[in-house]
Amino acid sequence: VVDAHSVFVPVSHHHFLVMVLLYDLTELKEIEQMQLDFVSNVSHELKTPITAITGFSETLLNGAMYDQDALPQFLKIIQQESLKLTALVEDILSLARISTNTALSLNRIKLRAYLTEVLQSFQPELEKKQIKVYNEIAEDFVIIGDDHKLRHVVNNLLQNAIKYNDAGGSVWVSSNKKQQIWQLIVRDNGWGIPQDQQERIFERFYRIENSRSRQTGGTGLGLAVVKEYIAAMKGKIKVASQVGVGSEFTVSLPLITDGKRDDVREKV
Ligand code: ADP
Repeated sequence: VVDAHSVFVPVSHHHFLVMVLLYDLTELKEIEQMQLDFVSNVSHELKTPITAITGFSETLLNGAMYDQDALPQFLKIIQQESLKLTALVEDILSLARISTNTALSLNRIKLRAYLTEVLQSFQPELEKKQIKVYNEIAEDFVIIGDDHKLRHVVNNLLQNAIKYNDAGGSVWVSSNKKQQIWQLIVRDNGWGIPQDQQERIFERFYRIENSRSRQTGGTGLGLAVVKEYIAAMKGKIKVASQVGVGSEFTVSLPLITDGKRDDVREKV
């Protein structure tokens, strides 16, 4: 990786330079490999629905459209695959936006009101699957945070807690604050995540391979986006889970306040 001439430069000052060069090139190679993997993953994920859409529309045009049974069935597949494609493109675009824009746009957020509002936006989905959400945020406090990024994180964690859960299941949302950190916890009593895959679910395109997960739509990009957003906010995310019992995602973020009293009226 390193230019051979540089390695043998005898002056100690230059030896330092060589070390720096080596470090940089290794890192560049890694980034290059990650980009190659990413492109190949994206192409694979895009090809699957496109192949289905092309194939089924060709079959329809070749005569299947006159078949009363095949027509609605094939159209349904084309529609579903198009929806998958749309979701995938949206995820890819948000990943692209993240890598160019990790800048934070800060607002004052009154946490309890804010999270309650996010929970309310899930009402139709919750009713459809008969899932109960318990809002366990007892203490209210104001943080200075990025409204858009935070909303994206909460939405994604809630979506997963609902998606990877049986009808009639439960979801708990709570938060707490320590000196310099505040935490948001989303817990469910859903299907759970096998121990050996708990690290991997944050990788791009990683999905747990079992018949249940395969039935639910998804791209495996959701948690990768979540992790990048949290990193942009200088925070961390961790998961604790047991198959058949449920999962708990804990987001820890630096607590930034503006020292003002929390009980003043404000826009949330
Ligand atoms: P997607 O939901 O699009 O598959 P994610 O990146 O959001 O992608 O999640 C990756 C995988 O992690 C999912 O396919 C699912 O198998 C697993 N997973 C995520 N959240 C949960 C959860 N709350 N309970 C069980 N499994 C989960």
